[in-house]
Amino acid sequence: MSRAVAVIGGGYGGTAVAKALEAQADVILIDPRDAFVNAAASLRALTRPHWASNMFFPFATLLPQGQVIRDRAASVDPHGVTLASGQRIAADYVVLATGSGYAYPAKPASDSLGDALDDLRRTHKELLQADRVLILGAGPVGLELAGEIKEVWPGKHVTIADPAPELLAGFQPEVVDGLRAQLTTLGIEVLLGTGLATPLSTEPGQSGTFTVTTTTGDDITADIWFRAYGTTTNSAYLADGALTPLTPQGQVPVTESLNVKGHDHVYAVGDITDVPEAKMAGYAMRHAEVVVQNITTQLNGERPTATYSPSPFPTILLPLGSTGGVGQLPSPDGPFAAPTEMVAEYKGTDLFTGRFVARFGPTA
Ligand SMILES: Cc1cc2nc3c(=O)[nH]c(=O)nc-3n(C[C@H](O)[C@H](O)[C@H](O)COP(=O)(O)OP(=O)(O)OC[C@H]3O[C@@H](n4cnc5c(N)ncnc54)[C@H](O)[C@@H]3O)c2cc1C
Repeated sequence: MSRAVAVIGGGYGGTAVAKALEAQADVILIDPRDAFVNAAASLRALTRPHWASNMFFPFATLLPQGQVIRDRAASVDPHGVTLASGQRIAADYVVLATGSGYAYPAKPASDSLGDALDDLRRTHKELLQADRVLILGAGPVGLELAGEIKEVWPGKHVTIADPAPELLAGFQPEVVDGLRAQLTTLGIEVLLGTGLATPLSTEPGQSGTFTVTTTTGDDITADIWFRAYGTTTNSAYLADGALTPLTPQGQVPVTESLNVKGHDHVYAVGDITDVPEAKMAGYAMRHAEVVVQNITTQLNGERPTATYSPSPFPTILLPLGSTGGVGQLPSPDGPFAAPTEMVAEYKGTDLFTGRFVARFGPTA
């Protein structure tokens, strides 16, 4: 029986599926990058260039029994994948795992490890020259960026502006209050209910003094700014409809067994799915476990039974530098506010680097 599994996208979800199935199937992982990107580490990679290579794990070491093709999917149908190069990969099972894009530096702009490291070093030099930093977006990425900057340069003035009226909407008041207190201690200024009313005169990540007027009528003068809002679902290669119609948000509709609706040999994991939950690496890896179970069962000639249910409440680990931050985690009694030491231990200290060394071997 043919056992070809094409995994499209080597992020948190796709690499977990590929690694778990390579011993029992003919796994082909497709990604235009040459390395797995641990995006959770990207903001420290910006502030500490000597540490930056720790966020990249070359694909070369991932699949001793499988194959990695460095290319981009251009179209997918129930029987396989057509690559941007024109190559056709026939497959018995297809797993869509192409994730989402964030504005640089939250995720690299380049697909090449060397170019991505050069970009981080270049932006680091720009940041080094700036005394006043403006971050647009007070979500987890903007907050983490502010924390990383303050840990390296406590004297820089950091302002975060966001049109949203509250911080971490939907999280427990204890978590939000703890976050506010730590931001105040670090001297990070947070302007909520505040958008920009005038255009920015510099490009993001480039040093150069500018002044903008906010929607509340105030002026902000800063020396560099970063965009920390907005994500895009990486699903353009499905827009031809050869596999499935996408949701209006560009996401892939999935069943509770994480099959792409209408296809019992095609699955999707991670940020690309329409599972109603925050888009997080932790969830992508849980999706991967379900899909691995289901494909394994099918490879054994049986009916798959594993299903996925989203968490009924939001969870987060939000470090502010390597020793600070807040979190909300699950417990049998519901969500609880994680102490700062736990946030540091689980994420802040190494930003998950150790966990991926276990999956890939050494960093770049
Ligand atoms: C700064 C930051 C911190 C974060 N911290 C956390 C955290 O603490 N905990 C948490 O759970 N989540 C965190 N996240 C969110 C997390 O990064 C995403 O949820 C996660 O990346 C989604 O994983 P994924 O497997 O769906 O896809 P991704 O990790 O986005 O990987 C997708 C892969 O698909 C490839 N690809 C794209 N298009 C194609 C194509 N056409 N053909 C082939 N391959 C393609 C890409 O090159 C990429 O390698 C953080 C994100 C950022 C930016």
